[in-house]
Amino acid sequence: QTEEQWIPFNKTRVYMSDLESALHYSLRVEVASHTVIKGEALTALKGYISVLDKYFPGRPPVKNALKAVNNWLKEQKKTSIMYSEFSAALNTKTTDSYLPEVVRWVGCQGSKKQYRGYPCSMWTLFHTLIIQAAEAGSKDPQEVLQAMRHYVGSFFGCRPCADHFEAMAQENMDHVTTHTVAVLWLWSRHNRVNARLAGELSEDPHFPKVQWPPPDLCPSCHTLKSNGDHAWVQNKTLAFLRNYYSAQHLSNDFLS
Ligand code: FAD
Repeated sequence: QTEEQWIPFNKTRVYMSDLESALHYSLRVEVASHTVIKGEALTALKGYISVLDKYFPGRPPVKNALKAVNNWLKEQKKTSIMYSEFSAALNTKTTDSYLPEVVRWVGCQGSKKQYRGYPCSMWTLFHTLIIQAAEAGSKDPQEVLQAMRHYVGSFFGCRPCADHFEAMAQENMDHVTTHTVAVLWLWSRHNRVNARLAGELSEDPHFPKVQWPPPDLCPSCHTLKSNGDHAWVQNKTLAFLRNYYSAQHLSNDFLS
């Protein structure tokens, strides 16, 4: 997108257009860089598609397309598949089952082409999935975290990002035993990445990396300790995340 095509958007909302664009880019561009998918990458793809099928809070045709491709993948008993076979399953369109082939960043727009977009949409997707899994009361609080860890490890195009994420996962992701802790683990690790990247050249000057949610989005998430240091109010932050990334709060504006 260029500056002329700028779409004014609302920072208090998550946009389905960003989430569908994330799926399109990840499944048709990023995964496509593997002609043959086998071993850990195949396990990672199966785990990723499985959580998308279970928890992606999408429009009915998109959910149907994810279900169809998940069913197809579950039937594959070979130790390797060709991307072309996966793509044929993914792109089998019917009137009520399809994944749009559109990239339109809204909340993830950058002020210039090189900024934001896909990596922003993947964070957005991961936070959304983890909230949906918590809402659905999934039995395994690690399910979404492990799926994203393995997707990032096998496919995410930014390799230093994947290495950093894996290092954080190795530190203590295995200790996550409840959905609440899973939601807060991802939120706090994302803030750690924000802190590390603040002021770097990759930062969009119009979207400075802040500890999120900032006070203008969630005043009650912040407090000061008696010594004047900043502290998060964890139950308020959790409530904010549950609402911000909830299915009911998603905006379908700007979808084609
Ligand atoms: P992003 O950080 O992409 O955030 C997207 C949106 O999520 C924000 O606009 C905000 O609405 C919301 N948000 C922000 N913080 C939080 C939070 N703590 N909890 C919940 N929601 C939040 N880039 C590097 O240069 N080095 C790296 O090591 C690196 N590692 C990455 C690892 C992963 C798994 C991913 C997905 C991306 C990584 N990136 C890395 C890219 C980088 O984190 C940003 O995605 C990119 O710079 C675009 O930033 P952004 O301003 O769009 O905001």
